Amino acid sequence: MTSHVHASELRRAARLPAARGDAEAPPDTTAAPDAPALSGGTAGPAALEPLLRTVLTALAEGAGRRAGPVPAGAPDALAAHVAEEFAAARGEEALSRLTALLAYGSADPADPSCAAHLHCPPLAVAAAADLAVSALNPSQDSWDQAPAATTLETLLLAELAELVGYDEEATGVLTSGGTESNLMGLMLARDQVLGRASGRRVEVDGVPRGGPRPRVFTSAAAHFSVQRSAALLGLGEDAVVPVAVDHALRMDPSALAEALKRCSDDGESPVAVVATAGTTDTGAIDPLRACAEAAAEAGAWLHVDAAYGGGALLSDRLAPLLDGIALADSVSLDWHKLGWQPIAAGVFLVRRAETYASLARRAVYLNPRDDEEAGYPSLLGLSPRTTRRADAFSMAVTLRALGREGLGRLVDACHGLALAGAAAVRAHPRLELHCDPVLSALLFRYLPTTGSEDAERTDRINASLRRRLLREGRAVVGRTEVPGEGPGRVRLKLTLLNPYATPADVTRLLDAVAAAGRAEEAAP
Ligand SMILES: *Cc1c(COP(=O)(O)O)cnc(C)c1O
Repeated sequence: MTSHVHASELRRAARLPAARGDAEAPPDTTAAPDAPALSGGTAGPAALEPLLRTVLTALAEGAGRRAGPVPAGAPDALAAHVAEEFAAARGEEALSRLTALLAYGSADPADPSCAAHLHCPPLAVAAAADLAVSALNPSQDSWDQAPAATTLETLLLAELAELVGYDEEATGVLTSGGTESNLMGLMLARDQVLGRASGRRVEVDGVPRGGPRPRVFTSAAAHFSVQRSAALLGLGEDAVVPVAVDHALRMDPSALAEALKRCSDDGESPVAVVATAGTTDTGAIDPLRACAEAAAEAGAWLHVDAAYGGGALLSDRLAPLLDGIALADSVSLDWHKLGWQPIAAGVFLVRRAETYASLARRAVYLNPRDDEEAGYPSLLGLSPRTTRRADAFSMAVTLRALGREGLGRLVDACHGLALAGAAAVRAHPRLELHCDPVLSALLFRYLPTTGSEDAERTDRINASLRRRLLREGRAVVGRTEVPGEGPGRVRLKLTLLNPYATPADVTRLLDAVAAAGRAEEAAP
């Protein structure tokens, strides 16, 4: 076989000893012609090319099989179809058949009628960059698995820190999203604040027992990952004190001051204030300066969850809304929301690197001291994860390809759509706006033609009209409940993240909502 000759020639050229000391029959290191190809190396791109053509064809074919943003039908019918295809797809056909299935069975955020969640349509350039990451598979836990990607992540983080208003003392890491970033912010808060009070290293010794009860303050409209983080960090979900919000779901600063005062009166320990810059439902931005002042006075860490609202930093028009964010000890950003990246593109930033100690870790096989002293940097001690994808890459490519201005234009376009949508809701006799949009989310509800004062029935109709739109494959609209007591809490939500949707698309979507509401009223 020629491959034997080839492999042994290579070995000779590299002066490598023949394997197993058997010069006659070195093992064949070249894949057989029908063996599955690898994606890397100089041969990888050629092997990928026909497969990518298959994928692209199947993507178009599958999306074309759908009439709207989601496949029509009930979930069990789709599940049966998926099971059938999964069972039937075999061998060479697997890639095309299952890719077409994935495309057909997607909720496609590139469709203007898919507007439920902070689920963005990725930019094609970002998806293409992501393919390079998949093909090469750098892992950010050691330099020798990601030589260039390690530096790119560090450089990208420095630019993002600057965007937030931090100076060179800042540091950070890429995360799986706001959930992980919030967990890390609260971990540093716990270790810094309780560590200072107890004179111990909390990440080593554990949460001090018998001391004052640790407390975390966040608004009633904050993301649920704050409670989950408290649970994971051994503080308990009940350590989180929900602070009252106004109608637009913005934290009431006087309620925060009162809650902190009560905490101090009760001899408890205020570990952190978590301010939200862009609540998931309304995009409301907590009063960041007031939160910073209150946290500083109480000796608490300030974490700003800007998973959604961080996108405003890209827009000259909206950036002033985040005034004060640079006062935060740590910040969460998510570029898989306003940032148009494939999942995952989370960012965690810390204002002062010296407070980022809890995760420092020496693993002899990943970041030995002598390697670091010899100039091989390691990101291992910045993340709770070990193997970590180079998600920084598609963000870095996007930032350079579009610039902050280019991304800012996309943010402004989505904001403009939300304003247009709000005006359309206001003008609609059967729709009621909850509050003015801040970023790109629009909260509203359908008012039944009769008996809209029956709050429970109105809630029921709003909840079921959304399922009707899903079942018909017509639209993906969000559904939430506003905090507080009492009936009449269900709201519908448009989270507008498609910068190329038009105001007419949004009006059509709202008309579909109203038509589905009428159909639900008429349903038995
Ligand atoms: C989306 C979101 C999160 C969670 O982020 P993931 O990326 O889904 O983990 C946290 N906080 C806010 C305000 C969010 O909008």
